[in-house]
Amino acid sequence: MTITGKQLIAGNWTDGRAGNFYGVNPATGEDLQPAFTAADEFQVAEAVHAASACAGEFANLAPAKRAEFLNTCADEIMALGDELLERVSAETGYPRARAEGERGRTCGQLRLFADWIVKGEYLDARIDTALPERQPLPRPDLRSFNQALGPVAVFGASNFPLAFSVAGGDTAAAFAAGCPVIVKGHNSHPGTSELVAQAVANAVKKCGLPGGVFSLILGSGTRVGAELVKSPGIKAVGFTGSLQGGMALFKLANERPEPIPVFAEMGSINPVVLLPEALKARAEAIAEGFVGSLTLGTGQFCVNPGLVIAVEDEGLDRFIAATSAALAKVPAGVMLNKNTLAGYQSGVARLRDQAGVEQVATGEPARGDGGFTCQAGLLTVTAKEFLSNHTLQEEVFGPMSLVVKCRDRSELLQAVSALQGQLTGTLQCTESELVNYGDLVDVLRQKVGRVVCNNFPTGVEVCHSMMHGGPFPAATDARFTSVGTMSIARFVRPICFQNYPEALLPDALKNSNPLNICRLVNGEKTCDAV
Ligand code: NAP
Repeated sequence: MTITGKQLIAGNWTDGRAGNFYGVNPATGEDLQPAFTAADEFQVAEAVHAASACAGEFANLAPAKRAEFLNTCADEIMALGDELLERVSAETGYPRARAEGERGRTCGQLRLFADWIVKGEYLDARIDTALPERQPLPRPDLRSFNQALGPVAVFGASNFPLAFSVAGGDTAAAFAAGCPVIVKGHNSHPGTSELVAQAVANAVKKCGLPGGVFSLILGSGTRVGAELVKSPGIKAVGFTGSLQGGMALFKLANERPEPIPVFAEMGSINPVVLLPEALKARAEAIAEGFVGSLTLGTGQFCVNPGLVIAVEDEGLDRFIAATSAALAKVPAGVMLNKNTLAGYQSGVARLRDQAGVEQVATGEPARGDGGFTCQAGLLTVTAKEFLSNHTLQEEVFGPMSLVVKCRDRSELLQAVSALQGQLTGTLQCTESELVNYGDLVDVLRQKVGRVVCNNFPTGVEVCHSMMHGGPFPAATDARFTSVGTMSIARFVRPICFQNYPEALLPDALKNSNPLNICRLVNGEKTCDAV
């Protein structure tokens, strides 16, 4: 494949008409060839028009055909071979193993969705047959299932160039639901975006689907991204990134004459609560796992553990000492781009400037060689200061964490109670502490999407039970996940058919059950025909 710098608009590769930009190698700071073109508003409109035109046809496609399309997307991504892996590394600074791992995850999730949709669970098909003789009033025949919402705008994430970008989780979920997708690629990895879009375009062709099912547009978020969200044909938005970006899109979507849902996964500091018995028994082992989690991928994960909360005692001192010793050996890491590095540096400076914050550990210093490298670290603050200063809860995206030292158990509970919404909350504890600190566990459960027990938050498994989301500001809607098969629910809506001719109902609702799925018939789950 050759990277051309073009946009994919409804199956056609075309030059953008709003100027040029380059990808940048973050390890060196140098531009990467070729130049990419940015879309203008007419090209955005063209992509949305084509998506709207084929939305009905794509939604009505049998789940088995959509599954074939998802699997073909995965095959075509694999067929890109080394060129893709090399471009990922060049545009992100991620080592080849990470690029390979992320490709595996991306293809794995496409295939998982393919397997899942043919089972028909996500359709939630329900049938209440007519009761014409019912007194005092007869009941009409009522049948409902989940149908596709319509064209979805997906914003690729900078930190997951494959798994949360062009054919990543949001796109896979939208395709699985039967929604055409228009991706606003992230400018931090335009070549990777184009290569993956070529793979998806091949899959669209091979499966005989209309070109409008998938488009990739590039350009600035505030221009093409905003234009896309404002387009009347777009019916939902999937986003992973900063709180500012997510909220700007959320606001735009709500100001439309027809407001639409924005499923934005945004900031999180992923508190790790260290309970005393666990610290007493294994402070050093916890520190080792913690440093691994904090510095993985240069800390550029939304589930990076940016906050530790514990009662001050000898166990916590041992944890801080072991963490400091391990961090001292952590080499400077390459960050994704200039902005992410600048955000990390200003975020660390902001934290350090707050009253009572002390830096207690640092990694190896950043290299002064033109690459976007950064230094890991650990800060401490008392719970008293933490409770009175909201700035200490602002996410610093990168390998820096803040330890909140509590005087006693009651202050520990206060600190956890003061947390805003999070993707994850981790407990390092003994089993008896889980019982004894039931009040704290209850509060933590109110704050997070995933409770992690004696593990660390990084490493988000793509599976049926994963919840990757959480109360605001972790996400715009705590009821939905952006990872795993439950994430399809973001892009469907229930529709009910009353007294509809049986032969003309969607297959999921026909008496004969041609999709061979399990349905709720008159209140009982059954896989049989009606
Ligand atoms: P971002 O700035 O939120 O951008 C994500 C996407 O949204 C980009 O395509 C961007 O386009 C677009 N966008 C941003 N603001 C917009 C606006 N006002 N209107 C329309 N579109 C907009 O995230 P990022 O570039 O990935 O990283 C920036 C910072 O976000 C990082 O330094 C980090 O602090 C944080 N971050 C957090 C997470 C997390 O999961 N919590 C993940 C990644 C990054 P343009 O790039 O063209 O503006």
